[in-house]
Amino acid sequence: MPPDNGKSAEHFLPGVSALNARITRPPEEPKTVWVIGTRERDREIAALLSNLGYEALCGIDGWSRPETARLHRAFAAVVGADLPGAFEVTRVIATARPVILVTRDDSFPLRLSAARAGAAAVLLDPVDMVEMAAWLQEFVAPTNPPLSVLIVDDDELLAATYAVGLEQAGFTATVITEAENVLEEMASASADLVLLDIDMPGADGMEVAQVIRQSRHNLSTPIVFISAERSADVHQQARRLGGDDFIVKPTQLAELAATVRLRAERAVALKRVMERDSLTGLLNHAPFKNRLAFELEHCQRTGSDLTLGMIDIDAFKTVNDSFGHLAGDRVLQTLAHSLVAGLRRIDIVGRYGGEEFGVILLDTPPETGLNVFDKLRGRFSALRIVAGGSRIAVTFSVGVAGGGRVGTGAEVLIAAADRALYAAKQGGRNKVVVDQG
Ligand code: GH3
Ligand code: MG
Ligand code: MG
Repeated sequence: MPPDNGKSAEHFLPGVSALNARITRPPEEPKTVWVIGTRERDREIAALLSNLGYEALCGIDGWSRPETARLHRAFAAVVGADLPGAFEVTRVIATARPVILVTRDDSFPLRLSAARAGAAAVLLDPVDMVEMAAWLQEFVAPTNPPLSVLIVDDDELLAATYAVGLEQAGFTATVITEAENVLEEMASASADLVLLDIDMPGADGMEVAQVIRQSRHNLSTPIVFISAERSADVHQQARRLGGDDFIVKPTQLAELAATVRLRAERAVALKRVMERDSLTGLLNHAPFKNRLAFELEHCQRTGSDLTLGMIDIDAFKTVNDSFGHLAGDRVLQTLAHSLVAGLRRIDIVGRYGGEEFGVILLDTPPETGLNVFDKLRGRFSALRIVAGGSRIAVTFSVGVAGGGRVGTGAEVLIAAADRALYAAKQGGRNKVVVDQG
């Protein structure tokens, strides 16, 4: 077990799991939703999803054969509860993909049947497309990397045993035997959880936990103590000093893995919520900028390209003034959904500010990026966003800047994209402009 298994900042950055796979990714990657049904309403839903940028299939052929290419392509399915055998359809599909069940029946028994069939969401008909798109955005999120555990224990052999056990259970594990290295290790290879021995020479585990908790950055990382200590008082004190759980040695590896998983999964889910904007589900300003800085460094190491687009809605103040703030919010949500639907899984979308969005296109030179953004722009401008009885047409402008090989930092790249955005606004709006450097 090497003390450092090569993890880096990649480990805790949102959506970063796709990094390794991106070399082989095609420049376009349709995100397919299968609307299972034959009614007019089903076709309408499919059409609206396709306007947003999803590839929407509509029909019922092949639902009973989950191995079919159709289902294989779809990352999610929509099933109408009025389809004959709808719950059976849901049950079969839900074993492989999340299913959204659409129904006119807002009763508890209906929802219970849907839950038993494994539906991930129930939406009332007529469907609020903003709500449906929000669910799809959730489902399309990149799969999480394995959870990482930092094991701090002076007993090398025991620590290695834990590490092997945890790795067999699907975690990645790093071991340090000197408590004084804990901060450095946490900074370089962010752990989703720290497994901390209490009885160590030099500093005991509870003291180490206090040291960890002194940094704001480490406040939310769960700490699980592991010790031969059985006294309930000591367990209480350990929790008071920043520990989240207590495992008594000797422990079964299965029990260890189960406790660690529970704590780590909850922490990762919380972190995800903290990093995301509640209205749009996109990365907030700071995590977006951190991610940009990280990706630029990655480009410099590998010589790959990256394109940044800063998107700003045109005359958004007028939308708010004419249709109200709630309608404005729906426009922001729809733009977010349309960006997520139309981009690849590896691309990164953030809400940079109020009505300004940032998009990072990985492995993409600005000339190609220009086309990508222009396609998104055209698609969004054709949408009619339904809000409070109105159908609102909105456009946006994009400033594009290329980074990567030239060695630009995040601030410089953002400034360049902002310059181009300003030029797009000056040039009449509803435009994509690339910064010329
Ligand atoms: P331009 O084409 O030059 O970008 O004009 P604009 O009207 O879009 O730009 P301006 O900066 O004047 O107005 C932006 C507006 O966005 C003002 C602000 O109230 C609104 N806004 C910011 N955040 C939100 C939000 O979360 N919800 C809603 N509904 N409006 C928001
Ligand atoms: Mg010990
Ligand atoms: Mg604006």
